[in-house]
Amino acid sequence: MRFCVVASGSKGNCLLVQESDTSILIDCGFSSKKLARLLEPRGFHLDGLDAIFITHEHNDHVGGVRSVAKGLDIPVYGTSGTIRSSEQALQGLTEVLELSPSSSVLIGDLEIEPVIVPHDARQPCQYIVNGSNQRLGMLTDIGHITPFVIEQYKNLDGFVLEFNHDTALMKKSAYPPVLQERIAGAYGHLSNSQSENFLENLDLTQLRFLVAAHLSQQNNSPEHVRECLDRVLSSEVVQHIASQEEASPWFDLHIG
Ligand SMILES: [Zn+2]
Ligand SMILES: [Zn+2]
Repeated sequence: MRFCVVASGSKGNCLLVQESDTSILIDCGFSSKKLARLLEPRGFHLDGLDAIFITHEHNDHVGGVRSVAKGLDIPVYGTSGTIRSSEQALQGLTEVLELSPSSSVLIGDLEIEPVIVPHDARQPCQYIVNGSNQRLGMLTDIGHITPFVIEQYKNLDGFVLEFNHDTALMKKSAYPPVLQERIAGAYGHLSNSQSENFLENLDLTQLRFLVAAHLSQQNNSPEHVRECLDRVLSSEVVQHIASQEEASPWFDLHIG
């Protein structure tokens, strides 16, 4: 299994996961034209996609789903709450499928497990993707770490984890207090120290790739995130900070 964080941040998110002939997207916050342009340097063509999984109805996650799924005629999966709240974003699509929060979905060589998370959306989930032998976790747009999340995100080989904001930077920012409270609240986003703490308490024996994602452009910096990662990860783990403008390299979980 290999993966590429196509883009991440408040302007649009997308993760591509591939195992043999099977390729899926998790979320797509921008048009198929932009997706194709971002993936061109990674040698991936959109006609290789088999399905799209969506995490929740916020526009940075579903804004481009219709434009990608329609042209390719591929199914879109989400929880029933997310599908009901994404009516406009999914309008006109013929195959929109509800997934049960407690069971996984098989698409070719990939098994996709939804994990319900606390975030200010109707029924948000994140995903763990299992390939033939590896396990990839994706976890962004979550206000706090729950015992259920700790239980699910064990034994990962690869992890795409939110590092949304630095608390001190946000306090100094021009963001109005009400917005700061929403972001830092129990249904907002993870701060750098929340994510660092989570990693500290997770068994990372198997982990080989960590991608920090959904960084706020106003309230965070790659340098702040890098400091957290250096404190908590062993030097054997490959680190990457996802960008809003450029696709990450492919991270191959078979190699390492
Ligand atoms: Zn988001
Ligand atoms: Zn969100």
